[in-house]
Amino acid sequence: MTVEDIQKAKAAIPFNREQLESVLRGRFFYGPSFDLYGGVAGLYDYGPPGCAFQANIVDIWRKHFILEEDMLEVDCTMLTPHDVLKTSGHVDKFSDWMCKDKKTGEIFRADHLVEEVLEARLKGDKEARGVVSEEVEESDDKKRRKKKVKQIKAVKLEDAVAKEYEEVLAKIDGYSGTELGDLMEKYKIGNPVTGDELEPPKAFNLMFETAIGPSGAMRGFLRPETAQGQFLNFNKLLEFNNGKTPFASASIGKSFRNEISPRAGLLRVREFLMAEIEHFLDPLDKSHPKFEEVKHIKLSFLPREVQEAGSTEPVVKTIGEAVESKMVDNETLGYFISRIYQFLTTIGVDETKLRFRQHMGNEMAHYATDCWDAELKTSYGWIECVGCADRSAYDLTVHANKTKEKLVVRQKLETPVEVTQWEIDLTKKLFGPKFRKDAPKVEAFLLNLSQEELEKNAALLKSDGKLTFTVPEVESEVELDDKFITIEKRTKVEHVREYIPNVIEPSFGIGRIIYAVFEHSYWSRPEDTARSVLSFPPLVAPTKVLLVPLSNHKDLAPVTAKISKVLRKEKIPFKVDDSGVSIGKRYSRNDELGTPFGVTIDFESVKDGSVTLRERDSTKQVRGSAEDIIKAIREITYNGVTWEEGTKNLEPFVTNIDSE
Ligand code: AMP
Repeated sequence: MTVEDIQKAKAAIPFNREQLESVLRGRFFYGPSFDLYGGVAGLYDYGPPGCAFQANIVDIWRKHFILEEDMLEVDCTMLTPHDVLKTSGHVDKFSDWMCKDKKTGEIFRADHLVEEVLEARLKGDKEARGVVSEEVEESDDKKRRKKKVKQIKAVKLEDAVAKEYEEVLAKIDGYSGTELGDLMEKYKIGNPVTGDELEPPKAFNLMFETAIGPSGAMRGFLRPETAQGQFLNFNKLLEFNNGKTPFASASIGKSFRNEISPRAGLLRVREFLMAEIEHFLDPLDKSHPKFEEVKHIKLSFLPREVQEAGSTEPVVKTIGEAVESKMVDNETLGYFISRIYQFLTTIGVDETKLRFRQHMGNEMAHYATDCWDAELKTSYGWIECVGCADRSAYDLTVHANKTKEKLVVRQKLETPVEVTQWEIDLTKKLFGPKFRKDAPKVEAFLLNLSQEELEKNAALLKSDGKLTFTVPEVESEVELDDKFITIEKRTKVEHVREYIPNVIEPSFGIGRIIYAVFEHSYWSRPEDTARSVLSFPPLVAPTKVLLVPLSNHKDLAPVTAKISKVLRKEKIPFKVDDSGVSIGKRYSRNDELGTPFGVTIDFESVKDGSVTLRERDSTKQVRGSAEDIIKAIREITYNGVTWEEGTKNLEPFVTNIDSE
């Protein structure tokens, strides 16, 4: 079975999510947390193959990004004080829109509700017109929800209305709460089951709040992303990097979001593993030295204008063309988009189910320059799995303003420049006696005034002879006259340029990626659809080798032990299956775990040390010495060698053990 054959098998047998989920849960890739207590929506535990799979993906991520780009890894705390997340904007803005049923109190996430109802009505319209829609196999979950949507009747819509619905759906990620409320009113969207009226959408903050310490006085949150820890360590990292930019930090760790209605398995959960990069660079130079290496890569893009025109037709071009035409804002952003593509396809994402969608104007944070999401197509639709944004200087600026600590890069200039700017001088000896313990806070506040503030205050000081300020954490108003401060415009020759770097942030949700790889890797053998296979690339497969002694005969045990010892020494993850069931059955059980190789030990092995190697997808077999077989496994798994190349010196072996 070749790659093409697998594609054919996938196309011939419709994807069945229930079957996949039963394999994943049955083989304990993952399962609901606390299920003895009835479970909690949006919380999942990973079992042994799930843990091994996740560890392999994280390992590849680390090598692909951290090692390749010399990134500086940090591991920061999940517990985060209120003030940090207030400054970052999360306390005020990290919310989704929810609406409540006026009668029952049932809660819906507004954008999902509008999406589901309009999709259901469009489906009803197609049915009424007798159009058979190209249908992705739907799970129980989606069927149940659709059944719940009362409006799903075969009702024909006016052409103009159907077109409007399509346009709304193409823009669904960009609506504000008010706009969603307007859409619900306009299209008469209520409780999808009862039809009851809903309250207008209200913002619901997604962070889990807690108190740090016994007094309860320090408010805190479980972090909703790993990024803030990286920003707050900027100065230490810059120093570690000898003051040079560009450089990137990276972090892998759990994040928490109190999702309004978690569903769709691992795709929308309340606790998940994130891997994030913050690439700090000069705002005046966003080129990337390695862009040449990736610029030929062809990708599928869904730019802003296409979505705003109500379409979802992708534009296929190289990343070089995308940056040149300014569709993607800059080289570094383009470089990371390509590296994300390379990473995802290495770990088993089907590239025909990967697109990069640009954020629409109203969807993107006001400070961001550009933002693209890597979306993966699953049976739940297109899902954002990696975000990649140019966040300008926003994060470092807000934290610097709040803490009055400079978060800047100092660059020595080859040619000094003349700079004219407002400057403030403090007569420090007067500050201590007047402000006592508050003196450092007042001084720091004054030294951090912006150019605009200095200009304004210089005029006021001249006209009034004094200035008054409200300084954070200083109780009474601060009043100063011109004995305390001087504000003047001065021209100086500068030898150093000081700037706040911009940041490009690729942000990966590992759980979503894992689930998408499960779906993209899953297929059933055409000759027996109950036999499922997870065709993981060998590098990410939880176990690489299944050792299968032909029988329980005592003569086979020493060979099994000897090969096990070598595999253990070589650190190749393997399992021995010496159960009494047929070899075919044993292999089939491991196809479900995605184990790429099987090694059969038989009575010939006892005589001459030779064993059989079976490949999971094709079920092809070759025979050779245990050493040569292990060498082939190592080459194919860890060095990217193909099966044909890796086994070219081994003898083809023909028996149909899969049907035994
Ligand atoms: P965001 O910061 O919202 O752009 O999210 C960054 C990444 O985290 C997304 O691309 C997803 O892969 C992942 N993610 C966000 N929310 C969830 C969730 N509730 N469950 C699982 N993964 C998530």
